[in-house]
Amino acid sequence: MDFELSEEQRAITETTRRFVEKEMPRQQVLQWVRDKVEPPQELFKKLGKMGYYGFLLPEAYSGLERPDPMGMLAFVEQFARASSAITTAWGRVAVILAPMVAKFGTQAQKDIVLPKVMAGEIFMALGLTEPGSGSDAASLRTTAVKRADGHWVISGEKLYCSQAKSAGFLILAARTDPHAVKQEGISTFLIPNPGSNPAIELTRIETMGLGPVPTFSAHFRDLVLPPDALIGPENKGWQCVLGGLDNERLYHGAIGVGASQAIIDEVVVYLKQRVQFGKPLSKLQSVRHKIVDMQLRTDAARLLVYRGASVLEKTGACHNEASFAKVAGAECYMHCAYTGLHLLGGYGYTVDSGLPMHFQDAKLFEIGGGAMEVQRDIIARGMGL
Ligand SMILES: Cc1cc2nc3c(=O)[nH]c(=O)nc-3n(C[C@H](O)[C@H](O)[C@H](O)COP(=O)(O)OP(=O)(O)OC[C@H]3O[C@@H](n4cnc5c(N)ncnc54)[C@H](O)[C@@H]3O)c2cc1C
Repeated sequence: MDFELSEEQRAITETTRRFVEKEMPRQQVLQWVRDKVEPPQELFKKLGKMGYYGFLLPEAYSGLERPDPMGMLAFVEQFARASSAITTAWGRVAVILAPMVAKFGTQAQKDIVLPKVMAGEIFMALGLTEPGSGSDAASLRTTAVKRADGHWVISGEKLYCSQAKSAGFLILAARTDPHAVKQEGISTFLIPNPGSNPAIELTRIETMGLGPVPTFSAHFRDLVLPPDALIGPENKGWQCVLGGLDNERLYHGAIGVGASQAIIDEVVVYLKQRVQFGKPLSKLQSVRHKIVDMQLRTDAARLLVYRGASVLEKTGACHNEASFAKVAGAECYMHCAYTGLHLLGGYGYTVDSGLPMHFQDAKLFEIGGGAMEVQRDIIARGMGL
């Protein structure tokens, strides 16, 4: 297998690295983390101008002639160096939800949503998880009842609806056939401006990390949606959701790889100049081995992420490979955040080192988008177990 990046993809790596250094310096990112505010939309509009929302979108919307998952991962790896959290604000739009609209939406839905996405003008939110259904997401209980005039009435509660307040669109999964078995009775809906809809009550949930990407509980109190809010066929919403989740798992793996590499690079620079016992700490064998193990895990995770991208590029979908990528990338990130912080000593414990931010953010990737055990179950099924 040849996972060599093309010349264009290497250019994406270089351009994104320069972009991140200029637009997202450490102190600016830490300020967003401290203030728990989203970065300005202007930052994302610049990404739009660079074409970085189009990796998985069709050419008709100024996307690419062919989807470019490898290019997408080249971008994610570099962007996540600055902040894994802020990468999810881009990814929820570019990787999970806009491709869902492009694949399953009506022409009108595509015309409304995708140009805004390509311009980096909007955030998007996903309402899937509920108080009673997380890992077992298909057992969701929020209902969408069709009225005689074809309108839908939504009632229920969603949890961890990230960026729902500022989102231009929320994609909601709701039960439209209460008698069908789990996955069979779910549909997906497109809801504009959820943050200013009086029938949706949003309450911020305080989280350990992910400060610049706020998450909310969302109460739907008889929210009325027009018939054309439905995305894809009625009761077939689970298919829409699944493709998005696979994409999410793959790019979460890439986030883990990019953030881990950023930690390693900083640890190496610091330990080469930090002298204790008369020599740089990088010369101590037990320290060197820890750094090597971080790099080993990161390189292994990178190969699994690239394999997932290659399968997605060739077949248009990747399921098992996405779970491999997610487990490897997320566990590697957690390991590197923990070990990196330790190796920097007291400095690692300071906010300015950036390690506490990584440490708090990394845990999300072992839980959100499907916990590690759920990913291992998917892999096990793929192995015929
Ligand atoms: C910051 C944040 C942002 C999020 N953003 C969104 C969002 O925008 N939209 C959205 O819909 N959801 C979002 N989520 C929800 C996220 O996807 C869920 O938290 C995740 O799927 C796990 O569900 P749960 O929290 O209900 O955990 P549970 O399902 O209660 O699981 C708890 C633990 O049980 C174990 N476990 C679960 N299943 C198994 C199994 N099959 N085998 C063995 N062990 C198992 C795992 O250790 C797991 O961590 C977000 C979550 C967080 C924390």
